[in-house]
Amino acid sequence: MLKFYNTLSNRLEEFKPLIDGEVRMYLCGPTVWDFAHVGNFRANVFADILRRHLKFKGFKVTHVMNITDVDDRIIARAAERGQTIDEYTAPYIEAFWQDFDAIGCERPEIAPRATEHIAEMVTLIEQLRERGHAYNSDGSIYYRINSFPAYGKLSKINLAGNIAGASERIDTDRYEKEDARDFALWKAVETEAETGWDAELGRGRPGWHIECSAMAMKYLGTTFDIHAGGIDLAFPHHENEIAQSEGATGKEFVRYWLHNEHLKIEGETMSKSKGNYYTFRDLVAQGYAPVAIRYLLLSVPYRKQLNFTFDALRGAEKAVESLRNFGTRLSEARCETGVNEELRETTARIAKEFETGLDDDLNTSVALAALHNLRNATNTAIDECTLRLVNKTEIEALLKRFDSVLNIFGQTEREMLDAEVQRLIDERQEARRRRDWARADEIRDELAGRRIILEDTRDGVRWKRG
Ligand code: AMP
Ligand code: ZN
Repeated sequence: MLKFYNTLSNRLEEFKPLIDGEVRMYLCGPTVWDFAHVGNFRANVFADILRRHLKFKGFKVTHVMNITDVDDRIIARAAERGQTIDEYTAPYIEAFWQDFDAIGCERPEIAPRATEHIAEMVTLIEQLRERGHAYNSDGSIYYRINSFPAYGKLSKINLAGNIAGASERIDTDRYEKEDARDFALWKAVETEAETGWDAELGRGRPGWHIECSAMAMKYLGTTFDIHAGGIDLAFPHHENEIAQSEGATGKEFVRYWLHNEHLKIEGETMSKSKGNYYTFRDLVAQGYAPVAIRYLLLSVPYRKQLNFTFDALRGAEKAVESLRNFGTRLSEARCETGVNEELRETTARIAKEFETGLDDDLNTSVALAALHNLRNATNTAIDECTLRLVNKTEIEALLKRFDSVLNIFGQTEREMLDAEVQRLIDERQEARRRRDWARADEIRDELAGRRIILEDTRDGVRWKRG
C-alpha cells in the first residue's frame, strides 16, 4: 500500500488520488537569481523519485513546477546590471534546466513562469478582496490573516510567537499593515522606472506566495493531490498558499503535503545566504559525475537529514561504478537455457523489497539496498555458473524497472552522448587550428543535426542542446 507522510496531518497516510489512476502534483521550483546549489537539487531529486514512483505504480502524473523569475533579488540585480529581468534570468533558467537534465530528473509536464501569470495572480487577489481576505494600504495589498481561522494548520505555527522578522522569509516591508503577521499579495511600485505591472489593483508586482497559488490552481484545479517542497517552505510560504487558495475558493487546496529535509553541510543547512554551498556545476567541474551526486542525494530517505561530505560523494561514485559494472557483466553473461528456480525466487523477493520500500513514504535507502541485493545475488550466480537464460532476461527487465525510478543506469547513455559531443567539438577545434575549414564546418553541421548548438566564447567553445 502506497503511503506518504502528510505534513498536514503529521502522519503516514495511505495515498489515494482524487481521480482514480491520475495524480496532480505541484513542486515549488527555483528562484532563478543565481545557479542552483546541490541542496536545491535534493528537493528536485526527491520530487523526481516521487513522480517516477507514481508512474511505476501505474498512475498518470501531471506535475507542475514553477519558475520564480521575479523577486526582490532578481529585480535588484537586474537593475545593477542595467538589464531587464528577462535578460537577467535567461541564463540562470537555461543553466537550471541543464543541471536538472544532467542530474537525471524527468522534466515536469508544465513549468510555468511567474512573470507570465501576472493576470492570474491579479484575478486571485481580486477574489480575495471580494471575500474580505485582503486590504489595501498605501497602494499595496495585504492578506488579512485574522480572516482565515485555519491559518497555521499546516505548520502548526503558534501565531502569538510569530512576529514580523522572526523568520527569514517573513516579509518585513516598509508599508503599513493592520497586523505584523499579514503578508503582501501585491507590492506597490511607485515609478515607471521600477519593475512593475499595471493592473486594476494599481501599478505593482506580486508577492512570492501568490505566484504559487495562482499557477498551481491554473494548471491543477482548485483542489489537487500533492504539493511538495523543502521543509523551509512549510512556513510561511505553504501556509500562505493555503490561506490564499482556500480563502479565494472556499475549497480544500491540497490533500497531501510532502516536505523534504535539508541537505546539510557540517551540520548546517546548505544555503546561499550562509555561503556554505556548492553549486551542482562546481561539483561537476571538479570531476564528480552527475549520477554520483544523484546517488548521494538518494542514499538517504527524503525526510531524513543528509550531510554533504566529499567522502560520501566518493562513496556514491564507487557504488554507482559497482552497479554499472554489474549491468555490463550481466548483459555480457553467457548462460544456458532454462531457469534457476531458487534465483528466480530471490529475484521476486528483491522486487517486492524494492516496491515495498518506496511505497513506504519513498524509502530510497531500502530501494537502493534492494538493487545492491540484486547485484550480489546475480553476481554470485554468474560466478557459480548458475545463471540461466530465463533468469537473465527477468533480471534485466527488473533492472530496467528499478531504473525507471532510480535512473542510475539510464544516465549512461546520456553521458556517453555528452562525451561524444565533446569529442566532436575537440576535433572541430583541431580542424580549425589546421585551418581545415571544410572539416570544421562538416562537424558543426553534424552537431547541428543532433540539435547541439555551439557558442564560441572567450573561454572556449560551449555547447547546449537546442
Ligand atoms: P529556492 O530557489 O531558494 O526558492 O529553493 C528551491 C527549493 O530548494 C525549495 O524547495 C527549497 O526548500 C529547497 N532547498 C533549499 N535549500 C535546501 C537544502 N539545503 N536542502 C534541501 N532543499 C533545499
Ligand atoms: Zn511555492
